[in-house]
Amino acid sequence: MGTRKRNFIGVKDGVKENIEEIWNRIDEAARKVGRKREEIELVAVSKGVSAEKIREAVHSGIKIVGESRVQEAEVKHQELRDIEGLEWHLVGHLQRNKAKRAHLLFDLIQSVDKIELLRELEHKAMDMKKLQRVLLQVNISEEETKSGFSPDQVLNMAKEVSEFSYLQIEGLMGIASLADDEDRIRTSFRRLRELFDEIKREDLPNFKMRYLSMGMSQDFELAIEEGSNMIRIGRAIFGW
Ligand SMILES: *Cc1c(COP(=O)(O)O)cnc(C)c1O
Repeated sequence: MGTRKRNFIGVKDGVKENIEEIWNRIDEAARKVGRKREEIELVAVSKGVSAEKIREAVHSGIKIVGESRVQEAEVKHQELRDIEGLEWHLVGHLQRNKAKRAHLLFDLIQSVDKIELLRELEHKAMDMKKLQRVLLQVNISEEETKSGFSPDQVLNMAKEVSEFSYLQIEGLMGIASLADDEDRIRTSFRRLRELFDEIKREDLPNFKMRYLSMGMSQDFELAIEEGSNMIRIGRAIFGW
């Protein structure tokens, strides 16, 4: 209990210091369960953050940025086009009519939450003859307002999309309950981990299950303890 609040202490204005602090905490959480920090990818979620702040984060070692909106990301992507090798991930809800723009911009779309959206992305990717890497978002929070496939549906859905040829499904993404209840958060993360393992065992065509994307500013240590290998951090880096 109280983890989320405690974790906010230590958030400063300096992006560099914040990133160092996050890596220390990643290291500690990983070690607690016999893992290594090298196994974990850190995505800096930069929605609402200026291109200059993102640049600062890149100078402090950030290699992946996560954005919530296509339009906002397009502007910043343009402003930061001189940075080589920076990966852009979409973590927010994507409308079908923006699938093409998203396909052109994002290396990985983490927030695919509907079969219709998968179909649309497959079409756009086929038109452009360029593979689209995606994660399936699963609603693990048991909160109605959250988007994502229901945990009960995701395995069947995965089998259905395994025939797509321009999509590569690389894992699962989930957002834990926002309640301040450690047991509940852990249960959500564990559920996603189990689903990840189940789908991986199916060894479906077009699936390359690599990323278990779970954990945000308030709960990333719990997520790492439960097996996450990709955490998405906004506030604790940019301090908004
Ligand atoms: C905003 C956002 C994050 C980052 O959240 P923080 O609490 O600021 O770390 C991570 N994942 C998704 C899907 C988000 O929308």
